[in-house]
Amino acid sequence: MVSLAIHGGAGGDGPWKGPTDLDPQRIACMQNVLSTVGSMLESGLDALEAVTIAVEMMEDEPLFNAGIGSVMAADGSVTMDASIMRGNDAAAGSVVNVTNIRHPIRAAKKVLEKGWPVMLNSKGAEDFAIEQGVEKVSQDWLITELRKAQWQKWKDNNSRPGSTDEDDGAILDHDAEGLGTVGAVAIDSKGNLAAATSTGGMTGKPDGRIGDTPIIGAGTWADQEVAVSCTGVGEAFIRTCAAHEVATRLRQGESLEEACKNMLGMVAPLGGRGGVIAIDSDGNIQIPFQTMLMYRGYWKDGEIMTGIGPDLYNSTE
Ligand code: ASP
Repeated sequence: MVSLAIHGGAGGDGPWKGPTDLDPQRIACMQNVLSTVGSMLESGLDALEAVTIAVEMMEDEPLFNAGIGSVMAADGSVTMDASIMRGNDAAAGSVVNVTNIRHPIRAAKKVLEKGWPVMLNSKGAEDFAIEQGVEKVSQDWLITELRKAQWQKWKDNNSRPGSTDEDDGAILDHDAEGLGTVGAVAIDSKGNLAAATSTGGMTGKPDGRIGDTPIIGAGTWADQEVAVSCTGVGEAFIRTCAAHEVATRLRQGESLEEACKNMLGMVAPLGGRGGVIAIDSDGNIQIPFQTMLMYRGYWKDGEIMTGIGPDLYNSTE
């Protein structure tokens, strides 16, 4: 019954071209998250804290686009979004465009625990989080050399927002990389579901832009039947209430697999190709994507599977 799935973003066009030099570091992070948090879930940790810890660990990996290593906005700053939801009572919390928090997902969980309001933005969110004991960091700490180089490339090429998020090419002469948003979904030993998602958004995003990640029902959803975390071009996920759409389709009798695939089929025509991770109340897991790759993995019954391209590998030690 107890299970956990995570993603580290989806992206890229065309056929899978194999891992880049930086991918082993991303895979190692995901394996560590799955083995650490999977064991904690098995020992009785609740699903809400499990997804929070899983996302915090990925926020701390500079190669993912969340927390340290978040992509840079048009003005060269880092602004981050995160949201979290608990299935059994529909409690939710979200922070938008925070600039000085190490773990935006912990800030979102503090909002959830307070109970009202559900969303806080910018300075209000930061002040609340810091007052609640969430670690404060500087912009300099959050911004990495890789992201600076991607942002410079974005600026030099006069590109569209998000255009350089898909490659490490600013540093390495390599192929497409995932967008790097992170998410987790889990079911605990009591059968409770939770979902969490965190992101730096898209390289070159305009000041004030809000993606799907902090929007309950778009990037993140959990109820008593399913927990969902999405990744992809956020505007299309907002316009389809994508994460909630999976829950709606399940209620209408679709299987979890159909619900996830059909939801992705709705966002694609709006320019929102991406991926989704979902766990239902029986502990079934789906992790489909329609891009070249999605960093993803799951822990179930002590077994760990991870993948980037089409295949999944058993990485249980
Ligand atoms: N959905 C995120 C956003 O639009 C980006 C991503 O998932 O990579 O902000």
